[in-house]
Amino acid sequence: MSMTATQSNPQAHSVSPKGMLIGGQWVDSASGARLTVENPAKKTAVAQVPRGNAADVDRAVAAATKAYAEWRKVPPRERGKVLLKIAEALQARTEEMARTIALETGNALRTQARGEANLTADIFRYFGGLGGELKGETIPLGEHVLSYTRREPLGVVGAIIPWNAPVMLAALKIAPALCAGNTMVMKAAEDAPIGVLLLAEICQQFLPPGVLNLLTGYGEEVGGPLLNHPGIRKLSFTGSTEVGKIVMRAAAERIVPVSLELGGKSPSIVYPDADEDWAVDGIIAAMRFTRQSQSCTAGSRLFLHEDIFDSFLGKLEKKTTSLKIGDPLDEKTDIGTIINNKQFTKVCKYVDEGLKRSDAKLVFGGLPPKSGPLSEGYFAIPTVFADRSNDWRLAREEIFGPVLVAIRWSDEAEAIRMANDSHYGLAAYVWTHDIGTGLRTAHAIESGWVQVNQGLGQVPGMSYGGYKQSGIGREFSLEGMLDSFTQRKNVTVNLDVRR
Ligand code: NAD
Repeated sequence: MSMTATQSNPQAHSVSPKGMLIGGQWVDSASGARLTVENPAKKTAVAQVPRGNAADVDRAVAAATKAYAEWRKVPPRERGKVLLKIAEALQARTEEMARTIALETGNALRTQARGEANLTADIFRYFGGLGGELKGETIPLGEHVLSYTRREPLGVVGAIIPWNAPVMLAALKIAPALCAGNTMVMKAAEDAPIGVLLLAEICQQFLPPGVLNLLTGYGEEVGGPLLNHPGIRKLSFTGSTEVGKIVMRAAAERIVPVSLELGGKSPSIVYPDADEDWAVDGIIAAMRFTRQSQSCTAGSRLFLHEDIFDSFLGKLEKKTTSLKIGDPLDEKTDIGTIINNKQFTKVCKYVDEGLKRSDAKLVFGGLPPKSGPLSEGYFAIPTVFADRSNDWRLAREEIFGPVLVAIRWSDEAEAIRMANDSHYGLAAYVWTHDIGTGLRTAHAIESGWVQVNQGLGQVPGMSYGGYKQSGIGREFSLEGMLDSFTQRKNVTVNLDVRR
């Protein structure tokens, strides 16, 4: 294809998006304003994208409403087939997609961005196969009554996503919502819209105009009007707990169903019988050090049994500090950059606070260098503090950067109590050789997802979502599609009517 939405060249360090997608057309914002997307590894401009506003939301919701009238009538398995075609087209362009993701997010190409591009295609493939599962039930009310339920779409979905895994998180909303017969207006994150524009361009090759609309711009300028638009019948949000509360308030105002995938401060509990080398590798994976820990599921509180505390941290230091920090597009790089200056400054503040705290010990890491190659981008250094307490800010707040707090424990009940002492409840990790201990702990932890002896990412098919302030609803799964993007209608027919 000669013209693409992003005009992307896999080797390029800048791209020229054609605009936002509204009603099948690539358009500028109504105001003509634009915003600059930065390459966080170089602090240079990558692209300019439209800076949308309320007028653009109006146009997009009108286009999605018009498209809904026909899209909802397309047989579900046919809609699924469209998603399968999108999956194949995505698969054919994974390298281009991976490079785009690395360029704008700072996530390393080899360790992160390629995986995200492949998972995006997989998500479309998974939901593409689920069209036939939009089934209803019959209710046994007697011989002369037919009572059944239908799964019907909700209408126009308003979706808002963050920047940390932008393309995969967009797919997690687009694929199930469209498979279920909804249409969508999505707002991409201001820091990482280019990969999502490329995704929308690939989707648009196979979709009727207006089924998927993609807006770019800032949260308050585009996200706010989208949350409050009377044409929106469902809100699906992934982002911080703070903004999630704004989304929920908007949903309450109009009684609109809402799904929220929010923040986390996930615990890892390591028992003394765990294989130490295996667990160290797993903790590095669970902490998502190779995506700068900019992950909602980052295992950022490490509860280590006192018998292994020092030896474990020694091994963790050796392995973590051997990871290469650098240009995300370099194949040798393990760890890329923090997304932007605001987030970088926030991470540095937390590290600084840890360094100043008298009863916390810096195990390794620290503040990033002020000169040299790493100072050219927003590079942070994996940092571990050891402390006895789960009470200080570093152990309680979502830092969204590579700062891990290790806490010593001796009593299992106390470890579980500290793990649960958080208003978040997204993910958790348990490390032990004893399957009984592993399962007992998994059941006691207040989190939507507990992994025993592994620290991997989500896989399509598993039901994923948060407990407590980490969210409402589930994604990644059949249940995620049915509960989040359909409503059930009961139809009851009296078969005994006299002529
Ligand atoms: P954020 O909440 O600041 O922004 C998310 C999106 O909301 C962006 O598109 C932003 O423009 C928009 N937004 C901001 N203010 C808004 C407003 N007032 N009205 C409407 N929209 C608004 O989050 P972020 O910094 O982009 O992403 C990081 C957060 O996302 C972390 O808390 C992380 O844990 C969370 N996250 C959760 C999951 C999950 O599956 N649970 C996945 C990824 C990220």
